[in-house]
Amino acid sequence: MRNKVIPYGRQEVTDEDIKVVIETLKSDFLTQGPKIKEFEEKFAKSVDARYAVAVNNATAGLHIAVMALGLKEGDRVISTPITFAASANCARFVGAEVWFADIDRDTYLLSLEKTRELILSKPKGFFKGIIPVDFAGLPVNLEDFRKLANEHDLWILEDACHAPGGYFIDSKEQKQFCGNGVYADAAVFSFHPVKHIACGEGGMVTTNSEEVYKKLLLLRSHGITKENMSENHGGWFYEMQTLGFNYRITDFQAALGISQLARNERGVIIRNEISDRYKKAFLGKVKFQTLPENFLNAHHLFVIEVNDRKGLYDYLHENKIYAQIHYIPVHKLPYYKEIGYNTDTDLSKSEDYYSKCISLPMYPTLSAEEQDFVIMKTLEFLNV
Ligand SMILES: *Cc1c(COP(=O)(O)O)cnc(C)c1O
Repeated sequence: MRNKVIPYGRQEVTDEDIKVVIETLKSDFLTQGPKIKEFEEKFAKSVDARYAVAVNNATAGLHIAVMALGLKEGDRVISTPITFAASANCARFVGAEVWFADIDRDTYLLSLEKTRELILSKPKGFFKGIIPVDFAGLPVNLEDFRKLANEHDLWILEDACHAPGGYFIDSKEQKQFCGNGVYADAAVFSFHPVKHIACGEGGMVTTNSEEVYKKLLLLRSHGITKENMSENHGGWFYEMQTLGFNYRITDFQAALGISQLARNERGVIIRNEISDRYKKAFLGKVKFQTLPENFLNAHHLFVIEVNDRKGLYDYLHENKIYAQIHYIPVHKLPYYKEIGYNTDTDLSKSEDYYSKCISLPMYPTLSAEEQDFVIMKTLEFLNV
């Protein structure tokens, strides 16, 4: 019996990471210093976006992103049920409604067709935006979603928390990185330790719109600015121009983020090697997430589907393999059930997916030997 636990996801903190954090702790700035700007610039470059705004977590990033896109009380957005609750909650923070459209049964992503059907079932202007999620690390085809959004005058906020480093090749043969801001109006990433880049807590909002960028900066820091003021009484003077928050990240977290970001490209390659080994072992035996041609899955997760999901979950846990379930459909959470926005929409594909899904261990430091053990125990339980 192994005594080491194998979690579904795990951060890696190197000596170099620790060194840069200590250096920053000894510097003049613990927060609001130069590391934040450096992290933003390097992150924006890594995903090909024009602007990036670092925040204290992705949930805060989603909140100020919907505000910067103009979402208001009583407005409506469309999102997917198969995501972490925060993708939907951000709209609720401003009093907007969240309507759900079903997923594609093979990619597990928000279905373009179901989104279109939901939009067309309502009068013009009913919805304001779409919040698709690059679930498990698989990029949403934002080129297609952009066409749909343009036809109905909607914005797109890409929840890219699972997908730094993921991309797809569009119809013009251009490589489109998740969060690059070409087809979506803004995107959000998370630096929670289970995600690709660990800052403890942290997040990033990216956009190519200068207007959205400026609003994000204001909202991140109380709505207070020293720029573009209506009056100026001296060097100390500032204006609070809108009602904002303190959603800032610290400099030592940003220093950790810079160090981790430098390893992400390599991490995504390793995640894909791990996924290739799973697929080779499961092909023809166990269903897993489909990878469309010309897409690179950044693989925050590796999800399989099995009929006796609870049985497999318990069996793996008995063997100290801490597989996890992603996710309980958001519309099934008590808070959303009680609100019950679009209860007549068919979300059966999301519910069927949830009854079968289980995420196997996926992180760059997962050893081949550990992965073999996971594969062996999974196939052993399924008896295939
Ligand atoms: C993790 C996650 C979030 C929230 O990230 P935090 O940084 O923990 O706030 C939002 N959306 C998705 C899809 C996530 O996986």
